[in-house]
Amino acid sequence: MTDTPNLPLATDLTDAGPGRSNNTRLATDLIHAGRIRSNLDENAEALFLTSGFAYESAEQAEAVFTNKIQHFQYSRFANPTVQMLEQRLARIEGAEVCRCTATGMAAVSAALLCGLKTGQRVVAARALFGSCHWIVSTLLPQYGIETVFVEGSDMAEWRRALSQPTALVLLESPSNPMLDIVDLRAVAELTHAAGGIVVVDNVFATPLLQKPLELGADVVVYSTTKHMDGQGRVLGGAVLGAKAWMEEVFQPFFRNTGPAMSPFNAWVTLKGMETLGLRLSAQSATAETLARFLEQQPGVKRALYPTLESHPQRALAMAQMSGGGTMVTFELEGGKEASFKLMNALRVITISNNLGDTKSLVTHPATTTHMRIGAEERARLGITDGVLRLSVGLEDVQDLIEDLSHGLAAAGGNAAL
Ligand SMILES: *Cc1c(COP(=O)(O)O)cnc(C)c1O
Repeated sequence: MTDTPNLPLATDLTDAGPGRSNNTRLATDLIHAGRIRSNLDENAEALFLTSGFAYESAEQAEAVFTNKIQHFQYSRFANPTVQMLEQRLARIEGAEVCRCTATGMAAVSAALLCGLKTGQRVVAARALFGSCHWIVSTLLPQYGIETVFVEGSDMAEWRRALSQPTALVLLESPSNPMLDIVDLRAVAELTHAAGGIVVVDNVFATPLLQKPLELGADVVVYSTTKHMDGQGRVLGGAVLGAKAWMEEVFQPFFRNTGPAMSPFNAWVTLKGMETLGLRLSAQSATAETLARFLEQQPGVKRALYPTLESHPQRALAMAQMSGGGTMVTFELEGGKEASFKLMNALRVITISNNLGDTKSLVTHPATTTHMRIGAEERARLGITDGVLRLSVGLEDVQDLIEDLSHGLAAAGGNAAL
């Protein structure tokens, strides 16, 4: 047996891997960026399912621990398969450094907890993913951190909230499930003036449709569970930002608290990245078609999709996004009863609270993902009992239209089959 190859432990964006050009374009980067090839010359990315790494000598181990040489040590700190995904995501995002985490929530919680201190202040857009909302409303105050929620689409509220020193802003745009758009550039300017950093949960847009760092954000977080795996298989998350913050603030927290991604999940997600561009453009086109269809149907009060003429923030969405994404939210006139009837009548679309899958999924936020935030907060966010969230997959658009027509008919909306 030959010795294990001495793999590079690169965190530098310019290192596209051995023999790789740094000037390739998006579609190529989705497939090749971050590739590490061992001395066995495998073509597909290898799965390094190992917790630890071996040293040639005690001297080498000492040199590794004193940072004199780079060498993988332990998969809680870094793992070659996970690193390939980190490098690929950093390249796609245009970020200096990426670290992958076990879940999207591990990414969000680590990005928040790594730098915040008792006595500091956090401002967040009210329309957040359920667990992100819990972290801001419930967990952070337990550590003596003051938290303030604002209406993300209302710049006057942001200005008022950010007129005081603020350590961190957390927001989602488009938001879950109402697809509200936040003006990323304007909020970043106000946050920086208040002395803080902006963390953007970019799950709904993906790095292909929106680049928060270019718009002034400091940190971007993902649930790679969603579009990046994209086939509903493995959980994962990612935190991306500038080298200084990632190395000085994030990494010590990451290494010592242990939210690392499993190499197996990274390997599956690397395969998902290869088709991300194709899936996203096909699913987004279908999503827009379905949104336009839904808003014309009797029994449908409104359909929300960022690029529809009827979306109240269409101009802003078009200015900061290059496409509307895969999510459509619509509201039925018949409330919970009509919503449940529609869902139960579907034959192609699956009832599931996941999103970003190749399979189309529908969820009733008021009784599932947004049940815990309470009726009052739901009312404030516009999440009525008639709201349904549709994650549009890769199926034939006509089959989805027929399925929704069937569901609307069952719900009492008289849609023709
Ligand atoms: C799914 C999701 C998360 C959490 O990700 P997990 O991988 O489920 O932990 C956070 N934010 C948004 C917007 C999400 O959709």
